[in-house]
Amino acid sequence: MFDLHQRLEARRAAGLQRFRRQVEGPAGPLQRIDGREILSFCSNDYLGLAGHPAIAEALRRGSLAYGTGSGSAHLINGHSRAHHALEEALAEFVGRPRALLFSTGYMANLGTVAALVGRGDSVVEDRLNHASLIDAGTLSGAKRLRYAHADVDSARRQLSRAEGDTLLLTDGVFSMDGDVAPLPALVEAARECGAWLMVDDAHGIGVHGSGGRGTLARYGLGQQDAPVLMGTLGKALGTAGAFVAGDEDLIEYLIGAARTYLFTTAMPAALAEATLQALTLAREEEWRRERLSELIVRLRGGAAALGLTLMPSDTPIQPILIGDSAQALAVADALWAQGILVPAIRPPTVAEGQARLRITLSAAHEPEQVDRLLETLAAVLASPVGSVAADAT
Ligand SMILES: *Cc1c(COP(=O)(O)O)cnc(C)c1O
Repeated sequence: MFDLHQRLEARRAAGLQRFRRQVEGPAGPLQRIDGREILSFCSNDYLGLAGHPAIAEALRRGSLAYGTGSGSAHLINGHSRAHHALEEALAEFVGRPRALLFSTGYMANLGTVAALVGRGDSVVEDRLNHASLIDAGTLSGAKRLRYAHADVDSARRQLSRAEGDTLLLTDGVFSMDGDVAPLPALVEAARECGAWLMVDDAHGIGVHGSGGRGTLARYGLGQQDAPVLMGTLGKALGTAGAFVAGDEDLIEYLIGAARTYLFTTAMPAALAEATLQALTLAREEEWRRERLSELIVRLRGGAAALGLTLMPSDTPIQPILIGDSAQALAVADALWAQGILVPAIRPPTVAEGQARLRITLSAAHEPEQVDRLLETLAAVLASPVGSVAADAT
């Protein structure tokens, strides 16, 4: 029974066991990690807000006004004026009547999907959807139909097999590939089949669309096109938590039916205060998105000049496909030895044989830091460690 030691040994042998590094200081491209000065390209802090002093100050003010803990669930007495103000600001930001806060994106997805569909209903999912959307489908008890990544014909075939109330679920930006879902075509497909499109825009909010309103906004799509929008606060907005936005009925329904909303402690009100400040910065400081676009162009141009192949992406997520897990790890280790952190992403996060280096950029990066990454990558991939990896791509 429970031979965890043996399970761990098997994982270690396969190079799949994970470990954690210890970080000091606020989030940013340069951090002390495991006692060393490291330049990192791995956070989801796309706008460079996670270490922003004005947001930290709002958190401090919020905690003096509301204390550190909310004390209970939203439906008891954990729902503060600050939470409410943030919900209104988020709804207005994404152009929808209402929004509802959740403590994490994972919980927002689980709670929302399981509240909307159940036995006799269906979820149709992109194969590369985030684990939380996949788990949400499983938890809901609905019939689960998966389609080939970003393949709208495949989605249509699965939609035609759906029964009952049907949710078409997709990431807006795919977290491990960096590509954008074919949203206009998915909207059409969902509409034809009477399904509801739900978009998880964890990596799009703050980054894409005018004013950072998200991936749907990038295509001019809104409430009528995708009735359910999920966004997270822990990525571009630099705090923690998530929200679901939609019409009045959706939000009122979720307040009573989403179990991950009902049966959990409300996020600290101070975090809501901090996020309001973050949202203001994200909306107003357009230079952060412009800087990000410049860095993406710089990285891709530089990579092409060095003969490195990045996966197709125009988002801050810029992976290099390596293939073999051990090889990806070896390249990541060699970069680490040079003081650069780029994580090797391996199964089960990505499919078998699809291990990759996942580079992410932030508006807080300097152009020279991107250049240093490129030079170091080129040197590592040309070395014995990397040449095997290069052959594998
Ligand atoms: C990060 C992420 C989540 C989970 O959000 P958390 O707030 O970190 O729990 C959900 N979906 C996608 C696509 C994500 O990238």
